[in-house]
Amino acid sequence: MRYCRVCGESTVLQGRHTIATTAMVVALEERVMSETFVVVGGDAAGMAAASKAKRDDPELDLVVFEKGEWVSYGACGLPYYIKGEIQSLEELVSVTPEEFREERDIDLRTGHEVVSIDPDERTVTAERVDGASTAGRDESTETAKHGDTVTQPYDHLLLATGAEATEPPIEGVDREWVYTLGSMSDGKELREYVARAREEGDLQQPDRGPACQFLEDCRGPVGVVGGGYIGIEMAEALAANDFEVHLFQRNDRLLPVFSEATSEQVADHLREQDVVVHLDSAVETLAGTDGDNGDEIGAVVTADDRVPVDMVLLGTGVRPRTALAEAAGIERGPTGAIATDAYRETSVDDIYAAGDCAEATHVVTGEPVYIPLALTANRHGRAIGQTVAGTPTEGGGVAGTAAIKAFEVEAARTGIIDHEEAREAGFDPVSKTITAKSRAGYYPEGGEVTITLTADRDSERVLGASLVSEYGEGAVHRSHAIVGAVTEGTTVSALENYDLAYAPPFNTTWDPVLVAAKVLSGSLD
Ligand SMILES: Cc1cc2nc3c(=O)[nH]c(=O)nc-3n(C[C@H](O)[C@H](O)[C@H](O)COP(=O)(O)OP(=O)(O)OC[C@H]3O[C@@H](n4cnc5c(N)ncnc54)[C@H](O)[C@@H]3O)c2cc1C
Repeated sequence: MRYCRVCGESTVLQGRHTIATTAMVVALEERVMSETFVVVGGDAAGMAAASKAKRDDPELDLVVFEKGEWVSYGACGLPYYIKGEIQSLEELVSVTPEEFREERDIDLRTGHEVVSIDPDERTVTAERVDGASTAGRDESTETAKHGDTVTQPYDHLLLATGAEATEPPIEGVDREWVYTLGSMSDGKELREYVARAREEGDLQQPDRGPACQFLEDCRGPVGVVGGGYIGIEMAEALAANDFEVHLFQRNDRLLPVFSEATSEQVADHLREQDVVVHLDSAVETLAGTDGDNGDEIGAVVTADDRVPVDMVLLGTGVRPRTALAEAAGIERGPTGAIATDAYRETSVDDIYAAGDCAEATHVVTGEPVYIPLALTANRHGRAIGQTVAGTPTEGGGVAGTAAIKAFEVEAARTGIIDHEEAREAGFDPVSKTITAKSRAGYYPEGGEVTITLTADRDSERVLGASLVSEYGEGAVHRSHAIVGAVTEGTTVSALENYDLAYAPPFNTTWDPVLVAAKVLSGSLD
């Protein structure tokens, strides 16, 4: 929040000081003109904030510290880069460092890690990072040396430090050929692994014993640990490169934040694509070659199984990067991520946090949640940029809306689907699952969409939904209407009367969303 430096009161500038005397306004403007907005982290949240603040208030000094060499990149595209559908990491970058510096007038310092914040002095200290190579995007990091430090004053500070991929607390995660996928460099390493395997061309491997038993021709086998978004996207990326893929999930279903119907359809489809899905299979050890002890990964071991593998990808979740904030005395919320108010300001004045390092507020429960996704990072970053530039802006809540493609199936979810979670939030949940045609029956193409819609029995409020269809048959785009209903607190009968677009190539007269609402509404009656 911008505070008045003339009288010292914590009143936003657009408040009553807009009626201050001319002299005060001039003094105020002079102070504002020299203000510095410092951003830590140069990806979605950080660069959205920096760009918006600079656009709205060109007089602001913008300094962005990014410890890596990449900025404004789409990590979401990494599985498709590893798969081979995207040819270079550069294609994942929306705006280059040069464009930020030259066209947007942002002082972007890549290869700089912020190591401490002093909220009393209003400064951050950054160290230049050794080895922030220029292999990627940014020439300015070439001479970076560890140990060079810089102290930067700020008037406003944004922590957009993101999250890091977690490793499960099991033996063997540090063996060679065990990967996580959280950064551009992880993506590069994985792509190199796939490319090497393809070059070696080791498609027939008859002497592998139990390995490659499920496919006639295969590479690997490889293990993917975790049946969430990244695990499933990577299973597809690896299978598309002819690896025999074993997917290990400790729960009894994949994608546990979706409905059971969605989980089942996705698991069935993965099996059709020759991915070996191991449910109820918590991984106990990543054993080495050489009598289990070698440095290289040799097998994934669960309570019931031991699957020989050449490589393992861990897709077991992320953890918000909060160490910097904690050391500065900034509070974390109940989820462990950085707590913020509606303007994304932290417990320390003029320090904001957004994106994967911070909490957000759930639109249904009003409670803090940690759901690290790209749109939230962009949206909250942009709102902070606007606030810092003088227009206090709330970033809005989150509904936990997410989408995934698994080979030829697409799925989306939004809101609260899980009955236990709904009950904990004080609702009496009722769900109905329907399957309906995705396009008019007489239209030459088409398939089916399955929707599980959940509502509160008493208020009839739409709480959430999970949708699944063949890829291209509209589960994801259909979810958007339900996101609106969830966000606005609409009742099921109101959703039933939504005036959705209809034409035979896109849906039936009663779109599957309306069918789901009708069926659920009937059961509430
Ligand atoms: C493989 C993969 C697939 C994904 N797919 C999807 C998807 O399909 N849909 C979706 O919504 N989301 C997806 N996500 C999540 C999405 O990428 C994140 O939500 C988004 O990138 C968060 O942006 P952010 O700016 O908060 O954090 P990040 O993108 O993590 O950026 C944080 C930046 O801060 C830098 N940094 C950290 N600490 C410091 C420091 N002390 N000093 C200087 N710099 C620092 C880091 O180097 C990093 O560049 C995916 C993520 C991954 C890894």
